[in-house]
Amino acid sequence: MACTSCKKGDAVYARPYSGERLCSKCFLSSIESKVRVTIAKYDMFEPQDRIAVAVSGGKDSVSLLDILFKIERAFPKAELFAITIDEGIKGYRDEALDVARAYSAKLGVKHIVASFKGLYGYELDEVVKMVERKGLDLGPCSYCGVLRRRALNVIAREEGTDKLATAHTLDDEAQTVMLNILHGDPIRLARTKPVTEDVHPKLIQRVKPLFEVPEREVALYAYLRGIKFQSVPCPYASRALRNDVRIALNRLEHNHPGVKYAIVRSAERMRPALEAMAKGWGLRECKSCGEPTAGDVCKPCQMLQELKVL
Ligand code: SF4
Ligand code: ZN
Ligand code: ZN
Repeated sequence: MACTSCKKGDAVYARPYSGERLCSKCFLSSIESKVRVTIAKYDMFEPQDRIAVAVSGGKDSVSLLDILFKIERAFPKAELFAITIDEGIKGYRDEALDVARAYSAKLGVKHIVASFKGLYGYELDEVVKMVERKGLDLGPCSYCGVLRRRALNVIAREEGTDKLATAHTLDDEAQTVMLNILHGDPIRLARTKPVTEDVHPKLIQRVKPLFEVPEREVALYAYLRGIKFQSVPCPYASRALRNDVRIALNRLEHNHPGVKYAIVRSAERMRPALEAMAKGWGLRECKSCGEPTAGDVCKPCQMLQELKVL
């Protein structure tokens, strides 16, 4: 079947929510232009920005590095580098680290690796064991997410970064919207924007250039570009509520193409009202570590103190 865009190439992908059928060349350029449009629409970068890309080694983050590298080539004053956080998950992170290292080297971008062990004194595997011993409620992903977010911010700041780009896709965003609702915390939606506000000098602005691209399209992008990515799933992933939400949303999307976009658009529309409700929360510095936080003690410190590792 011929590509509906160039009318010449053989279609390799049928886009269910738009009716397009695209050849590999038109598909790849459609993804790149979608990311360019997102960056422009949300004013994500300045031409001279020093941009850190959080590269876990998975398909989304390696593809993001690939796409941003192409886009930023047009801005000679911009700088791009990669950060990988090694959480310390046995049998999982090693392959990812190799992938991130190899792709950064291929593009010739600086690659920084920081570990939970180095930053907090414990690997995630050790944290999980302590959590289990103490019978605490939270799952591995809760600790992992909070500690990784903090780690990325600290390393990005130490490197004099202007923006920290993460590879959250449309799927991640739709899942996050649903998770905030399922956790009974819709106000959090005010804070999960495609570009975070510049609210504190110690908090690097985070941008999500892939947030309008479905995960399966990022996977196809990686495949067609010949990008190698980590194949082993995280051993803790199946325990998370996010995993159940992912399965449910994939089923909904299969039966009703476009629902993930609709969920993310709904959150975008609700956000101004939620932001107005969240106003006045201002950030201060954590009494324990000095990092920005909404309360007296930041979430990473609370978690580590509860485990008695601080
Ligand atoms: Fe961390 Fe959970 Fe992701 Fe594994 S699945 S890397 S534990 S957030
Ligand atoms: Zn084409
Ligand atoms: Zn703290």
